Amino acid sequence: MVSNYLNYIGGRWTESSTGEKHEHFNPAKPSESIGFTQVSSIEDVKEAVQQAKVAFSDWKQRSSVERGEILRKAADFLEENVQEIAEIATKEMGKRIVETKGEVLRGAMILRYFAQEGMRKTGEMLPSANPNNTLYTTRVPVGVVSVISPWNFPIAIPIWKIAPALVYGNTVVWKPAQDAGITAVKIAEVFDKAGLPAGVLNIVNGRGSALGNSIVEHEDVAAITFTGSNEVGRAIGIRAVAQNKKYQLELGGKNPVVVLKDADIDLAAKLTVEGCMKQTGQRCTATSRVYVEEAIYDLFMEKIMRIVKDIKVGDGINESVTMGPVASKKQYETVCSYIEKGIEEGGNLYYGGKTLEGPDYQGGYFIEPTIFDNVTNEMTIAKEEIFGPVLAVIRVANYEEALEKANDTIYGLSASLFTTNLDKAFHFIKNSEVGLVQINGETGGAEPQAPFGGMKESSSGTREQGQAAMEFFTSYKTVTITTKM
Ligand code: NDP
Repeated sequence: MVSNYLNYIGGRWTESSTGEKHEHFNPAKPSESIGFTQVSSIEDVKEAVQQAKVAFSDWKQRSSVERGEILRKAADFLEENVQEIAEIATKEMGKRIVETKGEVLRGAMILRYFAQEGMRKTGEMLPSANPNNTLYTTRVPVGVVSVISPWNFPIAIPIWKIAPALVYGNTVVWKPAQDAGITAVKIAEVFDKAGLPAGVLNIVNGRGSALGNSIVEHEDVAAITFTGSNEVGRAIGIRAVAQNKKYQLELGGKNPVVVLKDADIDLAAKLTVEGCMKQTGQRCTATSRVYVEEAIYDLFMEKIMRIVKDIKVGDGINESVTMGPVASKKQYETVCSYIEKGIEEGGNLYYGGKTLEGPDYQGGYFIEPTIFDNVTNEMTIAKEEIFGPVLAVIRVANYEEALEKANDTIYGLSASLFTTNLDKAFHFIKNSEVGLVQINGETGGAEPQAPFGGMKESSSGTREQGQAAMEFFTSYKTVTITTKM
């Protein structure tokens, strides 16, 4: 029998007020039901915000060291339950078990990083013109924070939003992606076991389009942190500005790789394929365009083909599989429509492009790793975020042309250059219009201590993770104490 996963509001596990439930199916075998989550109402959101508001008055008074201690315990519980949580995430959104296990461990690492942040300085002493003044800054929490998270990193992304929110003294109302709602409940259980006081973290499952406005516009919500599509993010930003709320948006990417003739071509081929195909291409930092210098174009194609042909597509619960399905029917249809568009607009479908069918695939959303070559920057597959296992290869005469074309996009999340030329490497670091730049590395990847985020339409400009997270989750307070000295 499949389980009914409840909301977590005010420290209690509750059914939604609608009584409705959403059934989750395994994208690797869509006939397999894996459980139900709540279809919440605006009333449930209001209750969650109210509980978060009440909890805030006590939570903010606690020391950040004490708050960090709870995060540390949550990290331990997360690690202890790695297998169970990873299996649920794999069955819910298709990511390979090797990747979901890695993501659970990464979640624990993020929690420990932010637990430690609770011991770091949050202000500085400043000189004052008045010798009788003691002038310093400190940081205070902003209040109730709405966390709206996507399905593609169902563990790490919510944790990298929730952990800093909590350690700096905020309380949280979390609306996970509906396609990752069960995994979200498992994460809430971890915080509950770690002893988080009632109301400090609340989870409300349900459809974003139905709950989104209430979770953003509620007068007691002080800030919204969102990761997802540009369309939804932009609308959230507009509503937040209208109410003078803090907001943080991490949106899409169209991340380029540039491969120069002096590069280590084997390394470039390996990391381009991994950058594109890991997690079935469903990462905001995934490689989706590669600009290759004319002189090494054929050699590069040969090398990526050798790697791509070895990719074993299948149900990610099997550890020998190297690429899982896409996460949902909706995602499957989107990716297939981009492949069709690529062909229609004159891209050369060099490899893949088909749905994998037959008894081994059980009707799952499996798409072959797909390579287009002879792509131009004008084609849709070179412009729009596909969020699937599709690589566009583009021939360029030299580094200058590659840089210009790599920057010719509305996005600015991540970019990577493969070269052994130090001058070009530094030129690229300075001139690529992205928030994350790699030299001889994959476009994806993030470490908890390093700021993460993009430029242009990839981000609202704030940064997540690292000490940069403090900027969003706290407000400055400037203090002047005047004494007779
Ligand atoms: P969405 O932007 O629709 O979803 C992201 C989150 O926002 C989910 O929790 C969703 O809830 C919620 N949401 C949806 N509508 C609203 C709303 N009106 N107000 C507030 N919150 C809302 O992305 P999709 O999941 O539909 O994916 C579409 C595309 O977006 C992908 O193909 C990809 O290109 C991009 N994307 C980018 C991500 C990134 O990491 N930058 C992550 C995910 C998607 P619910 O799930 O219930 O709809």
